[in-house]
Amino acid sequence: MKNYLFLTIASFFALLGIFFYQESVNNDKNLHLVVCDVGQGDSIYIKTPSGKDILVDAGPSDKVLDCLGSNMPFWDRDIELVILTHPDADHLTGLVSVLERYNVLNFVTSKTSKDTGIYKKFLKALKNEGLSLKYVFANDKIDFSDGSFSNVIWPSSEATQKLNPKNYSVVNEYSIIQVLQYGNFRALLTGDAGKVVEDQIAAIAGDVDLLKVPHHGSKTGMSDYFLSQVLPEISIISVGKGNRYGHPTKEALDLLSKYKTEILRTDKEGEIEIITNGKTFWRVD
Ligand SMILES: [Zn+2]
Repeated sequence: MKNYLFLTIASFFALLGIFFYQESVNNDKNLHLVVCDVGQGDSIYIKTPSGKDILVDAGPSDKVLDCLGSNMPFWDRDIELVILTHPDADHLTGLVSVLERYNVLNFVTSKTSKDTGIYKKFLKALKNEGLSLKYVFANDKIDFSDGSFSNVIWPSSEATQKLNPKNYSVVNEYSIIQVLQYGNFRALLTGDAGKVVEDQIAAIAGDVDLLKVPHHGSKTGMSDYFLSQVLPEISIISVGKGNRYGHPTKEALDLLSKYKTEILRTDKEGEIEIITNGKTFWRVD
């Protein structure tokens, strides 16, 4: 009986320890940006300074759940906002499990769709969660009410109106592009848009600290002009080891090297976490 009691008390204190540890990580008042290691795809988890959980894309599989599990406290099942940049499988697939396992409070995406099995599954999961498709366009501001916010800079509603809804091959070009900002820190999140679009938004984005490299470092994602405008200090490529597309391409890597930006890749580093207090930013080793 005594031993049993001791074990109960010991496990209670162990739990309390985990609670205080996670609580202190959770409430550090900094913005955390985590590029999850999801293989060939994109998923970015953001914790805002007030502790709001934001997910931008969910990758090609359930690996996103590992990323959320290790970055969110175990008792927190709420994700305040999911932003799906575009409905390709390498950004969408993991979202079905996220919608099933977490309480997703808000959802936004670009005004595109896909005629795929996974897209239908996603629509069903979204409906089960009591959510519907909500769209954002250029000039929309998503305010997290704690000094951090996201400015959507692409696609414009005019550009979206021109989209042939049956032309699914161009959804990359309608990826949501946003500048996430906290104090002086600015991160440009690009989805899978290509050069033509990136060149259009480059001057609007302006000088940024962090660039999520467009389209996994494909050779059609960036131009010299684009990088000359955004001048990132850190460039993160979300990419799978030995992927069949040859991402990141030599063209993309050479261009990034030319601008002396620090290149970080999820296929080499695994998960990549950047923290900012709004004045400076640093990488978690
Ligand atoms: Zn992609």
